[in-house]
Amino acid sequence: MEIVDTHAHLNFSNFDRDRGDLIKETLNSGVWMINVGVNYELSGKAIKIAERYREGVYASVGLHPIYSEEGFSFDSYKNLIKSEKVVAIGEIGLDYKSEYMGFKKQQREVFLDQLSLAGEVNLPIIFHCRFAHKDLTEILSKKDSLKGVIHCFAGDWKEAKRYLDMGFYIGFNGVVFKLDLEEVIRKVPLDRVLLETDCPYLTPPQESGRNEPLYIEYIIEKIAQVKGISYKEVAHKTTTNAKNLFNL
Ligand SMILES: [Zn+2]
Repeated sequence: MEIVDTHAHLNFSNFDRDRGDLIKETLNSGVWMINVGVNYELSGKAIKIAERYREGVYASVGLHPIYSEEGFSFDSYKNLIKSEKVVAIGEIGLDYKSEYMGFKKQQREVFLDQLSLAGEVNLPIIFHCRFAHKDLTEILSKKDSLKGVIHCFAGDWKEAKRYLDMGFYIGFNGVVFKLDLEEVIRKVPLDRVLLETDCPYLTPPQESGRNEPLYIEYIIEKIAQVKGISYKEVAHKTTTNAKNLFNL
């Protein structure tokens, strides 16, 4: 059975020197991945990488809020989606870290454009949200028929509950080792949990250096421990979730 790292960035230059070997090792260990775009160039690169593999490597395309000033071209991104390896739109959303507040309005505009694109092509969305849950839930509550995952969840249970009520999945990664998310992990039903690494970022404390898809095992262990269930159950159920949401 495969495990799916639903949020990796092997399209980043951190992996340029050994990408092929790393992907081979990852797939041989039964871990699949979705490489997530953050702008036009890296979305295209994620697709090129995915197209080298028959299965197990997929791509998501989108303009990350911190790159909003690059501008979003609806037609160019729509063109990328012609590849059958594209399984999601993302990561897109809002980032209210102080250095990105200067273009808050533009973040909102490119986000709304990308929500329209996701609706038009009927793909799930990978949401990035930092310090902006209030605005994000307000925008999403006015839309319907969107599906997706709140990636790198770092909020509290009340915020998680709002997303669950709207039908979204919650993505857990190495942040579970940095913040106290135990209440959220305990309360989010397993059938709404997705696993991710966000590699090369957020390396679990058991490892050092760059994060990699295979370190997903530590996230599984943590969720299993907090929920008081087996590693196997977490792996199995979250794989089903990922396959359902992204139609893998
Ligand atoms: Zn990411």
